[in-house]
Amino acid sequence: MKLVIAQMKHETNTFSPVPTPLARFARGKSTPLEGAEIREAFRNTGSAIGAFIDLAERAGAEITLPVAGNAAPSGPVQTGAYEWMAGRILDAVRRGCDAVLLDLHGAMVTERHDDGEGELLGRLRRLAPQLPVGVALDMHTNLFPAMCDNATVLAGYQTYPHIDMYETGLRAGKPILDMLAGRARPAMAWGHRPMLPHVMRQSSLDAPNLQIQRRAQEMEKEGALAASFFVGFPHADIPWAGASAVVATDGDGALARRYCDELLEMAWQARAQFVYRVEPLEASLERARQAAGGLVVLLDHYDNCASGGTMDTMTVLGAILDAGLENAAAFAVCDPQAVRQIKEAGTGARVTLDLGGKSDMPSLGLKGKPRQVSGTVRRIIDGAYRNEGPMARGEHMDMGPSALLDTGKVEIAVITRHTEPYDIGAFRALGIDPARKKYLMLKSRVHWRAGLGPLAKAVIECAGTGVCTSDYSQLDFRRVRRPIYPLDPL
Ligand SMILES: [Zn+2]
Repeated sequence: MKLVIAQMKHETNTFSPVPTPLARFARGKSTPLEGAEIREAFRNTGSAIGAFIDLAERAGAEITLPVAGNAAPSGPVQTGAYEWMAGRILDAVRRGCDAVLLDLHGAMVTERHDDGEGELLGRLRRLAPQLPVGVALDMHTNLFPAMCDNATVLAGYQTYPHIDMYETGLRAGKPILDMLAGRARPAMAWGHRPMLPHVMRQSSLDAPNLQIQRRAQEMEKEGALAASFFVGFPHADIPWAGASAVVATDGDGALARRYCDELLEMAWQARAQFVYRVEPLEASLERARQAAGGLVVLLDHYDNCASGGTMDTMTVLGAILDAGLENAAAFAVCDPQAVRQIKEAGTGARVTLDLGGKSDMPSLGLKGKPRQVSGTVRRIIDGAYRNEGPMARGEHMDMGPSALLDTGKVEIAVITRHTEPYDIGAFRALGIDPARKKYLMLKSRVHWRAGLGPLAKAVIECAGTGVCTSDYSQLDFRRVRRPIYPLDPL
């Protein structure tokens, strides 16, 4: 048995000014991983591609690994990058195989295609019409018909924070191997509801997504091969952004349809609970000042790099500095220029610099606004670390040359490559101990809860500035299908 296993992941924020060239998929190298280096990078990690490799090895399959690329969310993927990766996957299939297992995101927009995944799967289908194709997807998939029409089994994460990537790989891959062994005949049903669940209300730790994901898991216990409800990614102005579901059963299309409709109906009935209400920043800071006892997490959720944020807006950090909050840490400001200045000054030096605000945000009509900050350089590192988990456990991370700047009240992490703070490893690398802090500012929305949630006594969501704004009225939606809730009253 010959299997092609590949990864090509990107969540595209069409409002983001951050470019997405091939190098962004390459983890510090010039091109994404290929061949044996993929096996080395993902063996024993909590990733979907790691699960595919395990499944294939256990089945004694011959494995081809044409590409593994995973870029932090940003603007549309450049055509050259997309064709480089898609081309390698297609070439591998052209050389002959019995099935393909793909670790995709499901919300990739390219310069040419609204639906990067559907385009890839359509090309695969045309090349090999009968080929079984299993796909692991992120819960933030914006499901296009072409993805469903051209895959055999789709399975999406059932947790947000995403701590079940490996299990999702198993759920997508096992039905395909069972199919090759003559033990399964996957039948899929899929559908949408016209709604854009708000990212701040999407966590599977809270209602209503908790109940919806639990029901999807129950369906699998009842015999479904894979049941997935996608919350969707609303910061992509494309026709099929928003909530969807897909269910695969063993040969029972009618049951798949019933299950799929049940998940969609649960979401639709709960649509009002998926709406987020913004608190003015001054009110949030006032609550922070008065918070007693234990770590207070201050979420700068408008500028989460894992949703395409530039990770350099200074509104929330500036308000923290202005408010004089003490014993605080902030992760992170992505500012390569500032890191260079700090490195030149050296550890122990006192520096004053214009921090952050290097990126303009044309989609919001905003220019970047740096903030002058003075502090002592506490640490300078190369930025490599390994995730401790539970999210993406064991994966090598690289935030690029990075530094810790201490204002005396706030320890500010300044990094070179977009890295969402969801793993304690990032903090250890810079010598920040969140457990000893009173305040922790994070440029994150939900994923921080994976590695840091247990430390937080209180969470205060701070409305700042950024292209993953939680105020949808700041976004100029033009291409998403209408009507859609809550942009339209439905
Ligand atoms: Zn996601």
